[in-house]
Amino acid sequence: MSPEVAGSNGLSRPDAGAAPGEPSHTHSHQTGGAHSHGHVSDLPESVDIYDTTLRDGAQQEGMSLTVDDKLRVAEQLDHLGVAYVEGGWPGANPKDEEFFRRARSELHLGHSTLVAFGSTRRAGGAAGDDEVLRHLVEAGTSAACIVAKSSDLHVTEALRTSLDEAVAMAADSVGFLKAAGLRVFFDAEHFFDGWKRDADFALRVIAAAEEAGAEALVLCDTNGGTLPDEVERIVAEVHQRTSAVLGGHFHNDAGCAVANTLAAVRQGATHVQGCVNGYGERAGNADLSATIANLTLKMGVRTIPADRLERLTPVAHHIGEVVNLSLDPQRPYVGTAAFAHKAGLHTSALARRSDAYEHVQPDSVGNGTRFVVSELAGRSTLQFKAAELGLELDSPALGRVLDTLKRLEHAGYHFEVADGSLELLMRAASGAADGSEAFRIESYRVISEWRATGEGLDDAEPLVHPWESPGEVTTEATVKVHVGGERVVATAEGNGPVNALDAALRMAIEPYFGALRNVHLTDYRVRVLHSERATGAVTRVLLDTSDADGTWSTIGVSENIIEASWQALVDSVMIGLVRASAAGALPDAEVHHADGGAGGTTTIEAVGAR
Ligand SMILES: [Zn+2]
Repeated sequence: MSPEVAGSNGLSRPDAGAAPGEPSHTHSHQTGGAHSHGHVSDLPESVDIYDTTLRDGAQQEGMSLTVDDKLRVAEQLDHLGVAYVEGGWPGANPKDEEFFRRARSELHLGHSTLVAFGSTRRAGGAAGDDEVLRHLVEAGTSAACIVAKSSDLHVTEALRTSLDEAVAMAADSVGFLKAAGLRVFFDAEHFFDGWKRDADFALRVIAAAEEAGAEALVLCDTNGGTLPDEVERIVAEVHQRTSAVLGGHFHNDAGCAVANTLAAVRQGATHVQGCVNGYGERAGNADLSATIANLTLKMGVRTIPADRLERLTPVAHHIGEVVNLSLDPQRPYVGTAAFAHKAGLHTSALARRSDAYEHVQPDSVGNGTRFVVSELAGRSTLQFKAAELGLELDSPALGRVLDTLKRLEHAGYHFEVADGSLELLMRAASGAADGSEAFRIESYRVISEWRATGEGLDDAEPLVHPWESPGEVTTEATVKVHVGGERVVATAEGNGPVNALDAALRMAIEPYFGALRNVHLTDYRVRVLHSERATGAVTRVLLDTSDADGTWSTIGVSENIIEASWQALVDSVMIGLVRASAAGALPDAEVHHADGGAGGTTTIEAVGAR
C-alpha cells in the first residue's frame, strides 16, 4: 500500500451516505440474542438495502421483463421497504428508456429511492459529451449508480487505456453527475480480484470516486468467486483506510454471495446490493431475502422497516409471479419448503417445541410451518396435517388414510406435491364435506381432430418440417354430470383436451355453483413415470388452481394422459367447492344434491376458449 493512497487521497469522509433524517451508521449495536461471533462491536446498527433485480437480476437466463413487469416489481420492492431500487440502464435499450419515462408518472414509491444505472465516461472522452452520462441525467431520478473498472487487468486488457485515465474516468463521471444534482453510488467492478492483483490501483479508483462526491463505494465481486474469509479481510483493510460508506455487491458463482455480503457487513459495509430471490446471470446475485433475514434476525442489524419483515415471503412469491419464474421451493426463508417437515420424528417433536427443528420463527418472515405427507409419513404427521385442515381423524380413519396413501403412492401418486388431493382423501376419511356431494360424473369424452386446410399445398411456403402441411387441430369435449337434481350434458371446444374438458365441466356445473367462476387453473405439469415403457408409460399430471385466497395442487395418475388430467381436474374443482363453501361463497340455497331430483336432461353446447 503506498502511503499516498492511504494518507492523502481523500478517503476520509465520515458517513457521507447517511440519508437525511436517518441516524448515521454508528458502531453501537445491541445484539439482542444469543449469537456469539467475534466482532459484534464492529457491526453497523443499520444497512441500506439496494435491490438490482431490474438491472443485474434481469440478466438471468429466461427472464424477459416488459416495462409493465418492471413497474410491478418496483412497486413490490417498495412495499417490502428496500432503500433503493435500481431500475435499469437508461439509454442501453428502449425498454429501460421507457421504464424511466413511465416511472415518473406511474411509479409512486413511498419508501424506496429509484436509481438509474450506467457506466463512467468513455476513455479519452469528456464527461460533458458522454452519451451514457447524459442518459443518466435525463432519466429523471434523484440518484444514479455508475460502474467503473477497479482491476488493472480490465483497464489495460478490456478498456485498453492507462490506469491514470481509468482513475480520471471515475472522478470525472462522479463529478459530472454530482454537478447535475444527482446522488451517486459507485460500483467498483472486479474490486476483489483487482485488489489481489494491484491493491493500490483498486484503492485509487474508489478514492477518486469518493473525493468527487460518491456517497457509497460499492465493492463488487463481479465474477462471484471470492470466498468469505477473503471478503472479510479485504473489506477490513479498505475500512481501515476510509470512513466512507462502503457497500458490497456479490455474485453467487461460488455459492457464497449471501455469506460474502454478511462478511462485508461484519467489517463495516453499510450498503448492501443484491436481488430478490437471488436472480441474476450465471449462479445469480446475492439473495436479498436471505440477506435481509440474516442481518435482521441473526445479526441484529436494521435493514428494512422491522414491521415489514413478514412481507419477505409474500413479496418474493409475488415477484416470482411477475417475472414468471417459479420460486425454488428450497429458497431459504421464503421457499415453500423452507419450513416443510416430512419425517415423522421431526413432526412429533415440533408439536412440543416449535424451535426444535426450525432455525427461526417461520411467521417472522411471512412463511409458515408445513407438514408434508407421504407414504413414509408416520401417523403423527398425518394427524398434524388433519389438525391444520381442521379435520378430526380417529385412529381407524387415520389407518385408512395411511393405507390409501401407501397404495396410491405405489401406483405413482405423489401427495407431497398435491395438497388439494390429499385434503380430499382426508376429508373423505373423516366424513367431512369433500365436494363429491355436489355433483356426480356419468361420463366424459374428448375428440381431437386434425384436418388439412387450404389448397395448393405445392405452392405453400418453404416447409419448416418435412411433414408439415397446412392444417387445423380442433378439440371438443363432452361431459355428462348429475348436478342440482338434473342430468346435464355439456359440450365445449378448447385449444387442447384438458382445456376442452375444463370448459365442458365448468359449463355443466357453474350454473349451480357460481363461486367456481373465481377458480382458475394456473399451472399444468406432466411427468412421465416408467418412461422405459415408452408410450405405454404411466403419466402423472399435477394441476395448480387458484381462487382469490390461495392456490392448491391436485394430482392424477394413469397410463392415459387424458384420464390423469381429468382426475386432477375433478379434484381441483372439488377443492374449489370446499373452499368456496368454507368461505361462505356458496349460499345454502345453491348447494343442490347431485341426485336430488327427478329432473330431465339439460344439454348445453357452447364454443369454449380457443
Ligand atoms: Zn453484478
